[in-house]
Amino acid sequence: MKEVKIRDLTFEISISSDEISSRIGVLAAQIAEKYKDQCPIFIGILDGCFVFMSDFIRACAITCDVEFVKLKSYEGTKSSEIRELLSLTIDVTGRPVIILEDIIDTGKTIAYFKNYLSQLDPKSIEVVSLLFKPEALQNDEVPEFIGFSIPSDFVVGYGLDYDGQGRELSSIYKLKAKKGQ
Ligand code: 5GP
Ligand code: MG
Repeated sequence: MKEVKIRDLTFEISISSDEISSRIGVLAAQIAEKYKDQCPIFIGILDGCFVFMSDFIRACAITCDVEFVKLKSYEGTKSSEIRELLSLTIDVTGRPVIILEDIIDTGKTIAYFKNYLSQLDPKSIEVVSLLFKPEALQNDEVPEFIGFSIPSDFVVGYGLDYDGQGRELSSIYKLKAKKGQ
């Protein structure tokens, strides 16, 4: 599909499912090599990361713990205040932690969560983000591992939603500019 309509907006293809899966294979191999004997804890930030997490940990295929937290920072297509809706239940003390994010935009969510996590004394914290918008970043939270750096367009698909919809799409789509913009 080249274009999809979700609610009132039209989106066009940006990154195909084949491109996503080959990039995940490369990232997962790097992380597997680095962490293979360390039993890291992968922490996914819900909701957006669930599709990425599922493909990533199977590609990585090392002994690990898998945990989720739920933070919410978006209403519609705009960034807003961060809210914690589901918190950590695993003891991270002395353990290597790898945070999995679907996308880093302003960097506020990841900064908030890393700050919270570091108070629990993990051995280390690294971040893997499938998508990264360098032009939107408002702090220095550049992730250690990046799937794709993209422009500051709003994207959906592969777990990412627009007002709750579009998560089921296997490719990533970006908001199509209206004529004259
Ligand atoms: P940040 O705190 O870095 O501004 O935003 C992080 C969160 O906002 C992401 O985990 C994601 O849930 C949401 N987000 C940021 N950019 C986009 C986008 O382009 N599309 C969608 N669907 N969500 C986004
Ligand atoms: Mg997210």
